[in-house]
This record gives sequence, C-alpha cells and structure tokens, in this order.
Amino acid sequence: MKAEPAAHPEGPPGVLPPASLAAPVWVVAPHPDDESLGCGGLLAALSDLGVPTWALLLSDGAASHPGSPGWAGSRLVRRRLFEWHAALDLLGLPPERRVALGLPDGRLPLPGQPNGQRAVSAIRAALARAAPATVLLPWRRDPHPDHRAAHALMEQALGSWPSARRLEYAVWLPERGVADDRPRPGEALGWEVPLAGAAGRKEAAIRVHRSQLGLLIHDDPGGFVLPEEMIRRALVGPERLYEVLLAGGGSR
Ligand SMILES: [Zn+2]
Repeated sequence: MKAEPAAHPEGPPGVLPPASLAAPVWVVAPHPDDESLGCGGLLAALSDLGVPTWALLLSDGAASHPGSPGWAGSRLVRRRLFEWHAALDLLGLPPERRVALGLPDGRLPLPGQPNGQRAVSAIRAALARAAPATVLLPWRRDPHPDHRAAHALMEQALGSWPSARRLEYAVWLPERGVADDRPRPGEALGWEVPLAGAAGRKEAAIRVHRSQLGLLIHDDPGGFVLPEEMIRRALVGPERLYEVLLAGGGSR
C-alpha cells in the first residue's frame, strides 16, 4: 500500500517506507558514487528487508582525473569499479545483482546521439536479467550532463517495462541547480526516506569512493573532489525522491 504522498515537492513530502517498494528494485548510477550519495540509505534499508535489489552502473568513471599521469585510463577505471563494488558490499547488494556497462564517462550519449541506441540496447539487456518493478534513477534535470543523459537513456530503455515505478534521485540539484532544474509545482510527488539506522552504512559507502574524495590521487591538481558540503548534506538526510506525474493524473 502506498503512503499518502504530498501534492507536490514544494509541499510537505510524503514518507516513503522502503518496504512499500515493489521488487525487483534497480538502482541506476551514471558514475560510481551516485548510488551511495543519492540513495545509499534506501539501498541499505532494502537489503535489511531482503528486497531483491539490483545495481546498474552506466559509465566507466574514467573522466574524474584527466590530468593524472599515474592514474591514466584503465587504472582509474579499475579503481572506480572496485570502489563501486565495495560500496555495494557495504550497502548489502550481492555481487550477482550488479551490472557495469563501461560507457564513456563525461560523454554519456542522449538516445538520439551517435551510440545512443547502442547504450539503450545495453541497458535493456541488463534490465532484462530481472524485469524491473521499481527503478531508482537520476532526476531528469539533475544539473550534470551525464545524469541527464542517464535519465533519458533509462526512459527509453524502460519503454520495455512501462509499468515499472520510477523514483528519481538528485545528486547535483542542491549544489548546482537553478530554479528551472527543480521539480515544478504539480510535476512530481515528493517522497522522503528517513536514513534511520542506515546513516552509518551510507557514510561508509560514500567514503569508500576514496578516488573521489581527494584521498588517493594526488598528481592531478584539477582532478575532481566531491565537495564536503555535498557529503554532509547526503548524510543529514532524509533522502528525497521524485515521482513524476503522468499527464492526466496519476503516477507510474
Ligand atoms: Zn554522477
């Protein structure tokens, strides 16, 4: 049974009980770390409940330190994949329920761009391993090009599973978002997932991404470092998810 949702995200959000999500659940990350930042607490709660949960990683993570001589190319890709798996270990997702596609970080295509349809097909093939009932995916206007492309690719791939419930998480919205990036009045239901007993595991899962925290790669002054403020915000909770309303009322 669904809990009572808020009328729109500007109003008081509804509380989303993890036990209410239909399984299988898929969490889709454009980059290694988005799963932990965006919905690590929910993933830990689902794992506690024994809800079958799968993880899909779209990009290879190769773009975070383009100026690093020591971590060029495949070494960084291997490290980031290792961190993604380590985070999922901490959050309780079993290894056999993880799929990493290795698409180009920083250059995730939109469905209509070159290689876009190839990416959609790869996503469909991954999801077919466990027909999704609930999908946790990036917010459609999360202000990062890969996150928006990830959303668009997922929307098209999910055409094969039209009844799958879509719950969208935002990673960059509070950090970089402008007014138009946020949900518009009436566009989406706003849901909150309290971190409750999962806060410690969420923090551990975020902090295992050491390559993104400035703790591992020291030879690229321009390399990416997750803002500490963003981590703090992710750990204060609750996690927020948006469920976009269909034209004519109702949600997926
Ligand atoms: Zn990301």
